[in-house]
Amino acid sequence: MAFTRRTTHVAPATAESIAAAAACLRAGGLVAMPTETVYGLAADATSDAAVAGIYAAKGRPTFNPLIAHVLDVAAARRQGAFTPEADKLAEAFWPGPLTLVAPAAPSCRVSLLARAGLDTLAIRVPAHETARALIEAAQTPLVAPSANRSGRVSPTTAAHVLADLEGRVDLILDSGPSRHGLESTIVACLVQGPTLLRPGAIAREAIEGVLQAPLAVRDKATRAPNAPGQLQSHYAPRARVRTEATDVESDEAALDFAGALAESAAAARLDLSPNGDLVEAASNLFAYLRALDETGAPRIAAAPVPHRGLGAAINDRLKRAAASREA
Ligand code: AMP
Ligand code: MG
Repeated sequence: MAFTRRTTHVAPATAESIAAAAACLRAGGLVAMPTETVYGLAADATSDAAVAGIYAAKGRPTFNPLIAHVLDVAAARRQGAFTPEADKLAEAFWPGPLTLVAPAAPSCRVSLLARAGLDTLAIRVPAHETARALIEAAQTPLVAPSANRSGRVSPTTAAHVLADLEGRVDLILDSGPSRHGLESTIVACLVQGPTLLRPGAIAREAIEGVLQAPLAVRDKATRAPNAPGQLQSHYAPRARVRTEATDVESDEAALDFAGALAESAAAARLDLSPNGDLVEAASNLFAYLRALDETGAPRIAAAPVPHRGLGAAINDRLKRAAASREA
């Protein structure tokens, strides 16, 4: 996909740089912005041309719809038609790392290209103050997929964004490392009731606690090919990833959890959380995958991570990173 070559500026997020970023967005530009999940590549969600720029810059397939980011629940309701369950989840988790998929409202202004032609819409109210200030200044919903080349590891620092997208985006706002380090959890609230589409920074158990009911999970047979984070191969470093590793082979770097691989003779070993804390592990996951990749090791052995809580999302990303060379 052809992309426009741009001069990429990097700036700490300040009132001035945010104002410049908003002007850039209003003119159809691309701005990488920090959010509490990972760094996002923002564009005016209502502009087909700006949205097309995102797909081109990321090399992202256009059948993969984007998430619209708005300032509050009232703004979200202008774009999407919320069921009572969606209202409940929005009230409990917004602002925050939960994305809701709802039928597009008649007043929806989000570009059809961003929605991949669907009559539904993915929407979220972010909590990060820079993202919020930028949405407010731009005065338009922003689409903001992760600010990396399609299929690669999501960025949790401005340096990661620069490494992937230099020359492809206009401005990168730097607010330091992302707090969660994992993408938002996506729940569809359509006629068939709340369904988990992507595990993420909010644990399924917390969502079920609010709904007081188990969440359905989209089964593979009915899965539409429209979930980027759901593509088999995604979040992929250059090195091959081997999951559930209980040992480390001579050509492998080790992505450890709670010291399980500490006795191995790995040339490089990074522990997601020496104390076995899943929140800490989530926030380190993408940065450590990148760092181990940079050692030049051809393979990465990833220790088992428990599947409870945020472990579900961590295991989901590791599985997709491992699938990269098979897809
Ligand atoms: P990203 O922005 O890269 O975190 O990915 C956005 C995620 O939202 C992908 O997994 C999309 O498939 C999903 N998504 C966006 N819009 C929709 C929609 N209308 N229906 C289902 N999933 C969606
Ligand atoms: Mg992504």
